[in-house]
Amino acid sequence: MEHTHPDIASILIDEQQIQKIVERVGAEITRDYEGESIAVVCILTGAFVFASDLIRRIDLDCTIDFMSVSSYGSGTTSSGVVKVLHDLQHDIAGKHVIIVEDILDTGCTLACVAEMLKDRGAASVDIATFAIKDLPDVERPITARYIGTHVPNEFVVGYGLDYAERYRDLPYVGILKPEVYA
Ligand code: IMP
Ligand code: MG
Repeated sequence: MEHTHPDIASILIDEQQIQKIVERVGAEITRDYEGESIAVVCILTGAFVFASDLIRRIDLDCTIDFMSVSSYGSGTTSSGVVKVLHDLQHDIAGKHVIIVEDILDTGCTLACVAEMLKDRGAASVDIATFAIKDLPDVERPITARYIGTHVPNEFVVGYGLDYAERYRDLPYVGILKPEVYA
């Protein structure tokens, strides 16, 4: 059992649970895309840990590419416009794309990215997110076909997820102590 980082109030998803989640999502994608090749698009930075685990649990012909985007608009209302900070290095036209994300919150960023990749001529675009936040009374512009786990509406870190670029390296997902925000 790993020791818990002093800034973490509680562990939400431990390493064993993460492994089971990744195995299940990998098996779902393998089953659904049987006989096809897929193009995995990892949304930087947060999804790089999940994506690296996930591709090793997908038994399909697969490429991987990376995209970094920043969302314009405030936390609660999104302009629906994203700025591409780092673009894909390979053409996705005609490809079966699976966007891999760390966490789906409002879904505004991903809705825009999915639209962008469809416009580039992807044969199909699906989303695999490690976590989805349980938000009360929020209708998202998009959802994910593959969902690793639900998390409560709190700020979580670890397994790629950061607070101010920290804690991405934690091997578990945990809830930050409130005093860390202060
Ligand atoms: P959305 O456009 O609101 O869905 O934004 C999703 C993005 O916000 C994710 O890719 C994360 O980078 C970030 N995010 C949302 N909630 C959390 C959280 O609890 N911890 C860490 N990052 C988060
Ligand atoms: Mg992110």
